[in-house]
Amino acid sequence: MSLACTLHAPLDLRLDACEPAPLGPHDVQLRLGAGGICGSDLHYYREGRAGAFTIREPLVPGHEASGVVERVGSEVSRVQPGQKVAINPSHPCGHCDYCRAGRSNLCRHMFFLGSASVFPHAQGMFRERFVLGERQLTPIDEDVSLGEIACAEPLSVGLHAARRAGELLGKTVLITGGGTIGCMCVIAARLAGAAEVVACDIADRPLEMARRVGADRTLRGDATDNAALTDLADVAIEAAGSAAALATCLAAVKRGGRVVQVGTLPAEVPFPANAVMVRELDYAGAFRADVEFDWAVQAIRTRRADVRPLISAQLPLAQAQQAFELALDRSRSTKVQLVAD
Ligand code: ZN
Repeated sequence: MSLACTLHAPLDLRLDACEPAPLGPHDVQLRLGAGGICGSDLHYYREGRAGAFTIREPLVPGHEASGVVERVGSEVSRVQPGQKVAINPSHPCGHCDYCRAGRSNLCRHMFFLGSASVFPHAQGMFRERFVLGERQLTPIDEDVSLGEIACAEPLSVGLHAARRAGELLGKTVLITGGGTIGCMCVIAARLAGAAEVVACDIADRPLEMARRVGADRTLRGDATDNAALTDLADVAIEAAGSAAALATCLAAVKRGGRVVQVGTLPAEVPFPANAVMVRELDYAGAFRADVEFDWAVQAIRTRRADVRPLISAQLPLAQAQQAFELALDRSRSTKVQLVAD
């Protein structure tokens, strides 16, 4: 018997029994190591939808996970039983025009674990046991924890956002939002050579987290007027998902600068298009990640990226409800993870 944490409707999270799928020759059966609760999981939990993706059948959320190999199919060569693995939740088709152009995160036929973007839904990893193809897995033999390894996916999102920001060497980078993705953007901007990283939020705890992972300076967005923002940064990464934070980014970048949108905004937000025009700003989206997943795994296994400060709690699957409630409370948590035991 194996447990799966399943969302049946908004706020209706149940522990259902589910058997792992049978093992094909290239498949691997995993036991959950740690699975991080992401902002999109919280949107599904609270509202039954994340952005444009609406739950239409019971969904097992969870796309940021690590695992331990339990059994392997007859042809598996990448991993062995007992090994810790990083898990790439992204299954691009590999042959559409986007995949062939090296932008597999935009794949026309994407299957992304724990997402209602396709129907039937892509069931996620908040399960005691599950089966995946070996090519989704990277074995980790270094002495880093399953919790850290599970941060590879959110770090990959930060790295992708930093890449969409363009060259960062020597630049001043403003990051709005001190949640997990904002903090991953801080780490990514530093890895990319930014001269100064400034984090902005409207609460103190997220700013403290951003400082702990390397922000040079922090500011309270709700206590900073536009005059103080002028020419603050060369580049801004909006990771808060709020209209006010986007306005901060657009006000703070220098003329000719770039703003990267990685947070999910409400459906409609005011947008100062004329300021974008006369100041020649670039506004770029960043969605999930492509090859950056492998970069994230490498940065975590070597601790060039130390994500340990961000992991605020680990709760067993049986306490999934409490874990989701804790994750909703930004005053008490950054990354809350579910574990199998
Ligand atoms: Zn494709």
